[in-house]
Amino acid sequence: MNIILMGLPGAGKGTQAERIVETFNIPHISTGDMFRAAIKNETELGKKAKSFMDQGNLVPDEITIGIVRERLSKEDCAKGFLLDGFPRTVPQAEALSSMLKELGRELDHVINIDVHRDLLIERLTGRWICSTCGASYHTVFNPPKVEGICDKDGSKLFQRDDDKEEVVAQRLDVNISQAKLLMDYYSNEGILRTINGEREIQEVFEDIAALLRG
Ligand SMILES: [Zn+2]
Repeated sequence: MNIILMGLPGAGKGTQAERIVETFNIPHISTGDMFRAAIKNETELGKKAKSFMDQGNLVPDEITIGIVRERLSKEDCAKGFLLDGFPRTVPQAEALSSMLKELGRELDHVINIDVHRDLLIERLTGRWICSTCGASYHTVFNPPKVEGICDKDGSKLFQRDDDKEEVVAQRLDVNISQAKLLMDYYSNEGILRTINGEREIQEVFEDIAALLRG
């Protein structure tokens, strides 16, 4: 079971990834974790990646793909894997596909958790923080008893710049155009599976599980 999990920020990808790896007993391979491990273990590729990151540059695809390759070659991936956060671009997807071919493997499913832009923005911009105690609220998931006021100390809540609609929308749109290209690519390959992510976590998971149980 070789899977890629895709989903825009706010789509609930992290939560679903946790459930999938637990239920199907395959390793969760996130690019972030992989980079951290390669750097910590000072592998050749890890050292190269670090030198790019230290200079504030993007890590070139060939290094990233090398790190993914090292990880997918490990024994715990023999039964399958869940890739999360990689690939991000079509060239990375192409590199992944030829790398898997070399390893004698192929992708079974690319699962996209689909949530409309408006709902993503609602989820992503809902965070408000207490100016006194730092408590965090969410207008949808964890609202304060009185709008704009901290439950604990009655202080005013504020929104971080990063959580403001303009910033969120701008960041999201970059992600959306990138994801669209990637989805077209996997759709052409015939392995893109779209899951409606605008429902309860459990319902979304049941759909994914049914798909994976085939
Ligand atoms: Zn407070």
